[in-house]
Amino acid sequence: MITNLQTPIDYLKGVGPNRADLLRKELGINTFQDLINLFPNRYIDRTEYYKINQLQRNNTEVQIMGRITNVKEVPQKRGKRLVATFQDDTGTMELVWFRGQKWIRESLKFDKPYVIFGKTNWFSGKFSMPHPEMELLVDHEKSLRSAMQPVYPSTEKLNNKGITNRVISKIMQQLFLESKGKFSETLSKNLLQELKLISKSEALFNVHFPKNQELLSRAQFRLKFEELFYIQLQLIIKNLIHKSKIKGFTFDKVGHYFNTFFKEVLPFELTNAQKRVIKEIRHDLGSNAQMNRLLQGDVGSGKTIVALMSMLIALDNGFQACLMAPTEILSVQHYMGLYELCKHLNISIKLLTGSTNTSDRRKIHESLENGELQILIGTHALIEDKVKFKNLGLAIIDEQHRFGVAQRSKLWKKNTSPPHILVMTATPIPRTLAMSVYGDLDISIIDELPPGRKAIKTVHRYDKNRLNVFKFIRDEISKGRQIYIVYPLIQESEKMDYKDLMDGYESITRDFPMPDYQISIVHGKMKSADKDFEMQRFIKGETQIMVATTVIEVGVDVPNASVMIIESAERFGLSQLHQLRGRVGRGAEQSYCILMTSHKLTNDSKTRLETMVRTNDGFEIAEVDLRLRGPGDVMGTQQSGVLNLKIADIIKDNDILKHARFYAKKILNDDPSLSKSENKVLLNTYNQLGKYKNIWNYIS
Ligand code: ADP
Ligand code: MG
Repeated sequence: MITNLQTPIDYLKGVGPNRADLLRKELGINTFQDLINLFPNRYIDRTEYYKINQLQRNNTEVQIMGRITNVKEVPQKRGKRLVATFQDDTGTMELVWFRGQKWIRESLKFDKPYVIFGKTNWFSGKFSMPHPEMELLVDHEKSLRSAMQPVYPSTEKLNNKGITNRVISKIMQQLFLESKGKFSETLSKNLLQELKLISKSEALFNVHFPKNQELLSRAQFRLKFEELFYIQLQLIIKNLIHKSKIKGFTFDKVGHYFNTFFKEVLPFELTNAQKRVIKEIRHDLGSNAQMNRLLQGDVGSGKTIVALMSMLIALDNGFQACLMAPTEILSVQHYMGLYELCKHLNISIKLLTGSTNTSDRRKIHESLENGELQILIGTHALIEDKVKFKNLGLAIIDEQHRFGVAQRSKLWKKNTSPPHILVMTATPIPRTLAMSVYGDLDISIIDELPPGRKAIKTVHRYDKNRLNVFKFIRDEISKGRQIYIVYPLIQESEKMDYKDLMDGYESITRDFPMPDYQISIVHGKMKSADKDFEMQRFIKGETQIMVATTVIEVGVDVPNASVMIIESAERFGLSQLHQLRGRVGRGAEQSYCILMTSHKLTNDSKTRLETMVRTNDGFEIAEVDLRLRGPGDVMGTQQSGVLNLKIADIIKDNDILKHARFYAKKILNDDPSLSKSENKVLLNTYNQLGKYKNIWNYIS
């Protein structure tokens, strides 16, 4: 009989109520099943012994055989430490204890072979190991352990309460004993055969008690595949259900607005990527399912025009549309740009932000409700409850990484039927990640910049070269160009950051004095009217230098600005640097991005700077960013739940993910309801997972 894995962990022999409580709170282990799915973070190879003369100064864990020849107390600033000399046939090192010295001193045996294990330090010409795990060789040989010792995830609290790695290993053994190591198979025969996977029972055994490296690898592969496979299965099924259940408005015609715009107003030829994406959107809007599409395109790839043309399709079918942006400045800029284009088509379009005055606001509310207003642009103000549309057909969200999932779903409730949703982002989410996180969203990608753009030249300069940089600025301004100088603004160090900004501004006004030079400054503490005024001066070309905090990060479009200087660039994240750089290179001129830093750089900041200097490719940058920061951070916390994987690693197990997606698709194509007998085991497992782990919660 197979043990019921839903049994509460309290009932496992050796656990009991206190330990159960800790396991629940610290590791989220509620049931036998949860315990079996607690996978080791790594393994220690205890078959390998190091000689003292082989030790490296890299602070890794090593196992050494040797003898203790001497023990002494060494006084230090506070108290003393116990130091033992440990020796093998190649050299000597020290073992060090700061706590429990009395007991240790009494238990140490001289000139008997010991096996010690731990991390080594290199200190004043000698290797030492603080608080080693140690055992006499005779005892070590008696305790039979598997060659690869698992190291389980743990917390400080667990350790303090005595639930050490050894204890976890023991209760794991108990679980295998009680279940006789037999666990229900969760993948179909076909999959097992086709991918040459080992069985579930074999995999679980070898992941917890690996017999050797090869079996461990096969066990890991099988379990990772399984985990990713079911996530993909869930995402794809959800997408299918969504498409068949959630009816959207069918925009079946492309009419006057779209056609006239395309023939008479569109100021340039669309790129092939833009054409392809518009086609994809048109197809969605014309089917009777609600569109839920993510539009990815690097900064400057021309997403706005795609947004407008999609909105025109809604208008052609008698619906309203809205475009929501994360900042006031960006909404204003969208509004001004789109207003110009819509003017020729007699479309009524309005802007609604936090600073819209009451009487305008009232008019907007009215004309929205009676349907006179066709397009509404704005900030979060759009999703306030007071804002009611007559018939909102399409909602577009720009730069979605600034909006949470909750806000996205708020837009849905603006209608009896949900409007079509297009989410635009310039944060290129690596395809693999997008696939596993946004499996429910359809994805369109603009992977081509409008023609004639010159690649931005990016350099890294140290603060001490500032004079040269200023000279360069002067030359560019004399050619008629405009310059951005951006300062970091991080919440935690806000005060200091404002000081840096103001100091910087002052020194710039000294080096670039009026009346020859005009300088704008924009930061988050200014009233929005003042910000707008300064932005406008820069946009109109009345000022040559814009000194700003990161508020200009998103969307601002000044084609004549050709130099972006980023101060303290080491403090910015990669995707932020890339976004900022995207503010230049929008006109025909050669553009530059100068990353200013101090000399003190961490390895991560060096990597970020080097990446920026090396490439302009947003996807490549996103991949590096993902590697540096991990998926949770890149996506924002609200989505990271999906990535809360037990054994697979979205980045490292990319290839397995592709396999998993391929097979999930293939199986569902052939058998969408998983009703064929060969897929019965998949359906069962799928239903089980739905019961115990509600992945839907994580996705809007
Ligand atoms: P983003 O994708 O960053 O939002 P925008 O939509 O702001 O990019 O477009 C950047 C600039 O490129 C704008 O000035 C826009 O008018 C221009 N643009 C967009 N598409 C094209 C095109 N096909 N040909 C030439 N210029 C274009
Ligand atoms: Mg944009």
